[in-house]
Parts: sequence; C-alpha cells; structure tokens
Amino acid sequence: MALNLLESVWQYLITNFSEFQLATLGTFIIHESVFFLSGLPSLLFERSGLFSKYKIQKKANTPASQDKCVLRLILYHICVNLPLMIVSYPAFKFMGLKSSVPLPPWTVVLSQILFYFILEDFVFYWGHRILHTKWLYQHIHSIHHEYATPFGLTSEYAHPAEILFLGFATVVGPALTGPHLLTLWLWVVLRVLETVEAHSGYHFPWSPSNFLPLYGGADFHDYHHRLLYTKSGNYSSTFVYMDWLFGTDKGYRKLKALEDEQRKQL
Ligand SMILES: [Zn+2]
Ligand SMILES: [Zn+2]
Repeated sequence: MALNLLESVWQYLITNFSEFQLATLGTFIIHESVFFLSGLPSLLFERSGLFSKYKIQKKANTPASQDKCVLRLILYHICVNLPLMIVSYPAFKFMGLKSSVPLPPWTVVLSQILFYFILEDFVFYWGHRILHTKWLYQHIHSIHHEYATPFGLTSEYAHPAEILFLGFATVVGPALTGPHLLTLWLWVVLRVLETVEAHSGYHFPWSPSNFLPLYGGADFHDYHHRLLYTKSGNYSSTFVYMDWLFGTDKGYRKLKALEDEQRKQL
C-alpha cells in the first residue's frame, strides 16, 4: 500500500519533470531542505540556551559567527554544490543512474546505502587525515575548523576545494553502482542527517550513538573539533572502527576512560 503510494508519487514526478531536472534541481532542493531543517535546531538551542544540560562544550558561538556560517553556506551551495550536481549528471547517467518505475526493492535500496556508508567512511577517513597535514590544513581544512564549537550547520562549512575533495567520498559509492534516483535521494538525506548530527554539539540520551553500534556521532566528532589539528584524531565521518584500527582515537579513548573513572567515583 505504502509502496503503491510512493510509486504513484514517483510516477507523477517522472511524468512531469525530466530525469535531468530531478537529478540536479530535485537533488539540490532535497539537500537544502533536509540540511537547513535538521541543522537549524542546534543553532537555535545554542542561541536560546535550551537543552544546555546536553551541550558537549560549555562555550557558545556568537550570533554573528552563526550568521556568517549560514550566509557562506548559501553562497557555496548555489555557486559550488548546484553546478557540481549539474556537471556530474552525465557521469552518473553513464554509470547507470535510472529513475523509471517499478522502484527497486527495499533490500536493494538498503544494501546499496549501507555500502555507500561504509565506502564513504573509508574514503573520508583517509582524505580527512591528508587534510590534517600542515600545508593542506593551513590552506584548506582550517576553514572547516574555524568552528571549534560546532553546531549542525557547520558540517558543510568548508573551503570549496574541500567540498570537491571530500564530496568525492559521498558520490563514489553511487557513481560505482549506478543506483535508482530514489536510492540516491535517500542516501543524500541520510548522509546529511548523519553529518549534521555529528556536528550538532549536543549529546542527548536519545542520540543515535547510544543505540547504534560502531556509530561515532556528536561526541566523537566534537572531540575532533575542539583539539589542536595535530592532536585531534577521530577522522572518520560515520563509524568509529577506522580510527580504532589505525590508532587515531587514542586521545579520545583515554578521555572517555578518564570520564568513566570520574563518574564511578561520584
Ligand atoms: Zn578535521
Ligand atoms: Zn567537522
């Protein structure tokens, strides 16, 4: 029943819009809506002091620095992300992107998305580690680290060269598998929600890292932002095992062990 409804909506979309329009403007609209709607709450919590009990760092960003982030993001999204979606469409098409009905089975959609998450995390880890070398950090990645106290929207605040470089990690999975456009949209939504949560600056009792094994989340990535770039570690985007395997989470693990110890003594 739900699938029938989804299929009717999909049929409406592909009848009224071309695949090019859906894959470019459609993806852009979905990305913008999910990004700003999911990113704004943590900005508002920080401004109003709501949920301060769950804020990871006691420091807060000034409204002026929050505004600067939002304005820069709008500019980059229109001038970098949208043109990128347009020029990469033929490549996706070449690799087998489709938008026809019937929609793919959920087993295919979910297994492809799981593969994208694992591959993205692997590519992101190494790309991010390279960005923490001196020259690349000073000239490119330091922009993303301007916010040592991150809030959801800072997740995409980065130098345009970094958007291209680490954006590759996001698109390599879909580019390799030639997915259905619906799968691509779902991937965009989940990846945005994941990175916004990791930058939210809040660790709630209901945060996904409390329930999902191997998931990093806000506490894990917040540590990466508040430490000096040579000492930070925690380079992964989604999971914790890459940093564990390559020993780049030692500082974070030590801190967690210390916090656990202190909690036991209370
Ligand atoms: Zn970094
Ligand atoms: Zn970050």
